[in-house]
Amino acid sequence: MSIKQMQLNEIRDLNCYNFQENTDVSIDSSPTFFSASVSDLLNELRNADSNVYDILLVSDTLQHARKQLLDYFDKKENDMFDYLSDSESYKLNVTEKTIAKECIRFFKNILRTENERVTGFSTLQSLRNVIQTKGAMHVMEPEGFLYEVIHLLKGCNCNGFQFADAAEDSYLQSYSSGHEIRLNQYVCSIQNYFDRYCKGTDLNLSYRHLLVKNKILDYFNACEKSWDDFQWQLEHLFTSKDMLLSIVKLSEAEIAGLEIAEKEKIPVQITPYYLSLFNPEGRDETDSAIRAQVLPSVSYCLSLIYNREHENDMDYMGEYYTSPVKGITRRYPQVVILKPFDSCPQICVYCQRNWEIKSISDVVINESQLDKGIQWIDNHREITEVLITGGDPLTLPNSKIEQIVKRLSAIDHIERIRIATRTIVTAPFRIDDGFVNILKNYHKPGIRDIVIMTHVEHSTELTGDVVVAVQKIRNCGISVYNQQVFTYYNSKKFESSFLRKNLKLCGIDPYYTFNTKGKNETADFRVPIARLMQEVKEEARLLPGLVRTDEPVFNIPLYGKSHLRSGLDREPIMILADGRRVYRFLTWEAKLKSSVDYLYTDVSIYEYLKRLYNDGEDINQYRTIWYYF
Ligand code: SF4
Repeated sequence: MSIKQMQLNEIRDLNCYNFQENTDVSIDSSPTFFSASVSDLLNELRNADSNVYDILLVSDTLQHARKQLLDYFDKKENDMFDYLSDSESYKLNVTEKTIAKECIRFFKNILRTENERVTGFSTLQSLRNVIQTKGAMHVMEPEGFLYEVIHLLKGCNCNGFQFADAAEDSYLQSYSSGHEIRLNQYVCSIQNYFDRYCKGTDLNLSYRHLLVKNKILDYFNACEKSWDDFQWQLEHLFTSKDMLLSIVKLSEAEIAGLEIAEKEKIPVQITPYYLSLFNPEGRDETDSAIRAQVLPSVSYCLSLIYNREHENDMDYMGEYYTSPVKGITRRYPQVVILKPFDSCPQICVYCQRNWEIKSISDVVINESQLDKGIQWIDNHREITEVLITGGDPLTLPNSKIEQIVKRLSAIDHIERIRIATRTIVTAPFRIDDGFVNILKNYHKPGIRDIVIMTHVEHSTELTGDVVVAVQKIRNCGISVYNQQVFTYYNSKKFESSFLRKNLKLCGIDPYYTFNTKGKNETADFRVPIARLMQEVKEEARLLPGLVRTDEPVFNIPLYGKSHLRSGLDREPIMILADGRRVYRFLTWEAKLKSSVDYLYTDVSIYEYLKRLYNDGEDINQYRTIWYYF
């Protein structure tokens, strides 16, 4: 055991015996939560707010119920902040009142006819039907819907979060009472969660990587020297079920997905290096996030086939419409994306550009398109920053990359060139001396910044080889930033915080955490916005500032990133029959110009919790998720 580990254990022993999490609210023990009958849920609904329940039960018309509920919530909100009110609800804890204010805002949004019109659904009508018919009238399985409403009503009544220490202390008293102990308890909690996860540099994982690597080298009858050769990695990609089965065990579901992909020509590409991160004995928690990124699931394949057959546009972000010339995308005032190459050494299942990323053997660089793209940048003095992406530009040889960087560097209005690459993660040997020399030659502090953007999804991807690759880049004064996609596979409690802590230790700065895009083919990856916001507030917030430098963002098709931390950019406006929330987003330009809105239907929190539960998670650890919007 390391000294650091011993010190942490000591802290834990001293503090954990009386450790209590920040709230004592429960979403019931898991089995009851998932097996509650509709009549149990209706009882819970009545307990959450009997006034709302009774208004809906006896109302003659929807409009009458709407009016009564709006008046009811107006009064409730006023009372909470009115020292002269008889209700004395102003005495409640300020955090609970703040959450109640948010919940009431959501409920009032649900009551608005404008929101019913734009979403084409009425939560109010559904709720009234369920209550008046005792659950008989509901088009879908009602659990997800009823749990959303129950938690919302609890929140409106300051019964949602229910702090265990709901104190009437003054500001200073509250700070000083048990301050030191509380902070240590947080440390203890963080460490307990961190202990569940591993990183690629852990000894047991490094040893396993080595065994799989040797098996792969034997399979190709290759030597150690070949392994470190990026070209060799590119020439020995794993592209089929049979190749993969020679090295690792695959589950029936994984085989089924790969068979459909093969039959339907859905590209699968895994570098030998990345395959060495698989657990050869089959999927487990040490490689689940890794496998999910490169093994297409049956549902992914079927939905891709459906899109192809129906000629559905998979350009979710509307890149076609934001391209002034082919190969360039512009969504922001000073930055453009330049895409010289449409493939990558490895193909990620959830790639937002899956509509244009092809197998490496099917792509050649389009010189005239690239030429026109750079010419366009040269002609537009407004542009100061270029993100070279693709595909993965590091699939190209150094000579080609140098040509592109050299031409961009010669444009006097370009201050920053960002090179986006996943090869740090998928084939770290790609960061060779030739590439490092390009960085050194064109990075001119004070004049022109060259930056590397990478994409690490899980701490198990952070191997010794990754650390070496990052250090080579950092040694020439170049910053390395990470863009993480927050998917089901890195969304467990403190899982992403653990990733960010280790990224920072490797020399990579966390930059963006993306909410998964609403593409139907990537449904397996999607996580409710509420979970990302919970992660930011209850997990990432506990880490030192430099470790949590990233910004959680939601990408609005055509317009780009909307900051999730900014409450101004969105509001929940409806709960659909299956419990999914509908959000209204404003673009990043809101407040600069009159903005258009964008409606987004999220993943159901209930379904997300059910999935976690089926995967063995204690969902009580996620119980406050309902109160993030
Ligand atoms: S490396 Fe990037 S561009 Fe390539 S498939 Fe993965 S997400 Fe898409």
